[in-house]
Amino acid sequence: MMIVMKEGASDGQIQSIVDRVTAAGAQAHVSRGEFVTVIGAIGDDREMIAQLDLAGQDGVERVVPILKPYKLVSREFRHGDLPVVVDGIKVGGGSFGLIAGPCTVETREQTLETARVVKAAGAAMLRGGAYKPRTSPYTFQGLGKPALEILAEAREETGLPIVTELMDIRQLEDVLEVADVIQLGARNMQNFDLMREVGRTDKAVLLKRGLANTIEEWLLSAEYIAKEGNERIMLCERGIRTFETATRSTLDLSAVPVAKNLSALPVIVDPSHAMGRRDFILPMARAAVAAGADGLIVEVHPSPEHALCDGPQALYADSFSAWVDDIRRVVDLMGLVMAGGEPVPAAV
Ligand code: PEP
Ligand code: MN
Repeated sequence: MMIVMKEGASDGQIQSIVDRVTAAGAQAHVSRGEFVTVIGAIGDDREMIAQLDLAGQDGVERVVPILKPYKLVSREFRHGDLPVVVDGIKVGGGSFGLIAGPCTVETREQTLETARVVKAAGAAMLRGGAYKPRTSPYTFQGLGKPALEILAEAREETGLPIVTELMDIRQLEDVLEVADVIQLGARNMQNFDLMREVGRTDKAVLLKRGLANTIEEWLLSAEYIAKEGNERIMLCERGIRTFETATRSTLDLSAVPVAKNLSALPVIVDPSHAMGRRDFILPMARAAVAAGADGLIVEVHPSPEHALCDGPQALYADSFSAWVDDIRRVVDLMGLVMAGGEPVPAAV
């Protein structure tokens, strides 16, 4: 339920509503706008909240139910966008975030080289997995902690914030030390304990959509994180499983306008994992931007033929700058501003 306060409602009036909401066992979520304050009463006991009868109380303009099952992340509650700012880099609200890097950290050289290339091309953040969710237990599972140290070095050198996946609560402390954005992977989208734990941190989160999850389930997972107090969430569409086998997954670009319509969170798109093939990534990346995405996350490798993971979908590091220039044109066309780095002019 949303309690919309009157323009100019006093702090005392706001506090007294907050007290009543909390006394009913609900969370009071106060958003102070330029003119009006809106208090969200969020809780499990709907009847209790409904019985609060706050309409007509001092300073209350009106009481509106939030109809969606997710509350804090809904556009219904927020009205505007809820951009995520990472180290001064804004994603959402008209600012476009490009995240690029290897699927996984393999060696120090491979990671640092990729980091330099994506930085020079104008990417805003570096991705790279230390813990990898692999389908087969016999394939490379990620370097783990040593990879985190390499990522920390890459940030130190390039200044790029780090996006890296957290697979298990037991890795949380180590990942928190290095990550600027915690990636929650498609296979973990409904690991609710993990969502709650990450919700108790103040780290930005990249929440991938599960391979077989609806948009509503995805937004409810985001709500798990927000409910614990962490609202710095970016949604990431990465393709879903359909009957089609020509591509690795089916990139559901309709999820972009739909999720943005339902939720205030930024939506970014991962065409790499959806398509699984390098040559299909540019057209779908262009389409994602045109569909209204707030950012892209793509895989880049200096030598994809030798990559330990996801080589066929990795963009070549040596032509990545031209790739970004292509995307930049669509970003401009959409009236968005590229967040973070300007491309570095090629040495003469
Ligand atoms: C990844 O980003 O490397 C990854 C494993 O992604 P997803 O969880 O979308 O499969
Ligand atoms: Mn990958």
